[in-house]
Amino acid sequence: MTNYADFHRRSLTDRDAFWAEQARLIDWKTRPATICDASRPPFVHWFAGGTTNLCHNAVDRHLKDRADQASLIYVSTETNQEKVYTFRELHAEVQKMAAVLLSLGVARGDRVLIYMPMIAEAAFAMLACARIGAIHSVVFGGFASVSLASRIEDFTPSVIVSADAGSRAGKVLAYKPLLDEAIRLSAHKPASLLLVDRGLAPMERSPGRDHDWAELAQRHADVQVPCVWLDSTDISYTIYTSGTTGRPKGVQRDVGGYAVALAASMKHIFLGEPGETYFSTSDIGWVVGHSYIVYGPLIAGMATIMYEGLPIRPDAGIWWSLVEKYKVTSMFSAPTAVRVLKKQDPAFLKKYDLSSLKALFLAGEPLDEPTARWISDGLGVPIIDNYWQTESGWPILTIANGVEKQASKFGSPGVPMYGYDVKIVHESTGEELTEPDQKGVVVIAGPTPPGFMQTVWRDDERFVSTYWSSIPGQQVYSTFDWGIRDKDGYFYILGRTDDVINVAGHRLGTREIEESISSHPNVAEVAVVGVADPLKGQVAMAFVVIRDTTAVHDDAARLKLEGDIMKVVDDQLGAVARPARVRFVTLLPKTRSGKLLRRAIQAVCEGRDPGDLTTIEDPSALQQIKDLLA
Ligand code: AMP
Repeated sequence: MTNYADFHRRSLTDRDAFWAEQARLIDWKTRPATICDASRPPFVHWFAGGTTNLCHNAVDRHLKDRADQASLIYVSTETNQEKVYTFRELHAEVQKMAAVLLSLGVARGDRVLIYMPMIAEAAFAMLACARIGAIHSVVFGGFASVSLASRIEDFTPSVIVSADAGSRAGKVLAYKPLLDEAIRLSAHKPASLLLVDRGLAPMERSPGRDHDWAELAQRHADVQVPCVWLDSTDISYTIYTSGTTGRPKGVQRDVGGYAVALAASMKHIFLGEPGETYFSTSDIGWVVGHSYIVYGPLIAGMATIMYEGLPIRPDAGIWWSLVEKYKVTSMFSAPTAVRVLKKQDPAFLKKYDLSSLKALFLAGEPLDEPTARWISDGLGVPIIDNYWQTESGWPILTIANGVEKQASKFGSPGVPMYGYDVKIVHESTGEELTEPDQKGVVVIAGPTPPGFMQTVWRDDERFVSTYWSSIPGQQVYSTFDWGIRDKDGYFYILGRTDDVINVAGHRLGTREIEESISSHPNVAEVAVVGVADPLKGQVAMAFVVIRDTTAVHDDAARLKLEGDIMKVVDDQLGAVARPARVRFVTLLPKTRSGKLLRRAIQAVCEGRDPGDLTTIEDPSALQQIKDLLA
């Protein structure tokens, strides 16, 4: 077996040869002429001159060897549906969806926004876009109209694919009214909506604009739509993510680099073999869903489980029953989900035959040791933490057991993955911290590897100024995470350097939540901070200064206003962004120059020392918060 340190070194020092080898893991129509073009940093063009197609690699190329094997396994405990699509059937469904999109005028380079619950049609839509060279942007179904509107406006889709409703814990969440409201709010109006009717909620239709999926699908049954050979550097999709401003960023990804990155990761990190089954419990609205529900496993020729439902419904054994039934070999989830399961009867872990499982991968938020130990003891398989970001598309730090088996360390996601030149630097001097256990900012020196974001959608300038300009004296990519590296080269992630919070593995910008709360007519000022939570990792906590204080003169009035403010966030951003509490104060802690002291508020909320307060304008503001929490 290869030595991992050598493998990693080679990926950086002999970059072109290394990635030319990885590029053989996928099919190309035309082989790339150049492997890595980094002549205009920080932009990187991977596999220029090559032509390929993500859908071909995920679906068509498996028809030869495994047409009748499972590809997409759809399970919904919300609607009690279960359907296994073979590669042949998936091929047919995707062609049908592609034909329907073409009939709605979608051409190569056009944009299709996908606002869908976890149903098979969502995966068909993604793959269909990839097939015809349309750029997709999947918006998480838990987001509400204002979040959706800002994405529609930025992405300017010609078609939006959606459904009547999602469902969570048996509760139907109608999508169409949210979508209609989002379109009303957006300056850009899509030409067509393609709507999947699950029969869960009524839909008002706008004639001429709104089309029924079942009806159009019937018209295009049995059609053949060939894959369009795309340039490796063409855009495959964008996915929006939160940052420090209220405006979400469209993380833009290519075609060839992404396909190679995923194929390589399935082999080296996720131990996936063709014919096996992969189960990622994420949602297609997140990057994990793109990479490891849809594209990655399928590119590897694996079956992939797409699960709609909770981990504890009908009971806490549901996931393990799927592992047994479909002989899942690799499973991918988030620490929060494990913490939810940990509160249930541990007997569920022993009830099913889990002998097919090789490893459980966890990502999205810090993995605490008790959670890791509990699940590791319960399952008896390796638990592999992996650290990455929407921007990277695949793990930055983990253990590549497919290259060389290496020990994991509790609390550490692992070591830098091949292709990533990860460093720790001093936040204000930019100096590289090479001694063990020194805390600094985790950065990546360019060129970034295949699969990494190409740029911010339609905003190269923002890409450079946001990600590549925060460290003095050098152009490196900032992850905006604090970290340390121990003497053995293992990294530990210590939280964000910016105002991004992580609630149950979902990344949220505190500014977006603040902007939403500010739209309540009685809110004068607001500060939102992320506070440590035993279940969700972090929760959002809002501190609000109100205009008319009579609105909080008694407990009932205070509770009502708190509920009203939460509802504003629910309606605009979605329940995922709803603060756990809204507390009322008469002033917020700020510096003399008017900057909010979010970190001091967070420290107080977590019972920690708020640190240096020499710049605070009025210390009583922080005291108020302390008193409130006492
Ligand atoms: P997202 O782009 O939503 O995937 O969020 C990425 C952020 O989540 C990172 O910048 C980290 O702050 C956090 N994160 C993701 N994975 C891990 C992990 N394994 N350990 C610690 N933090 C993580």
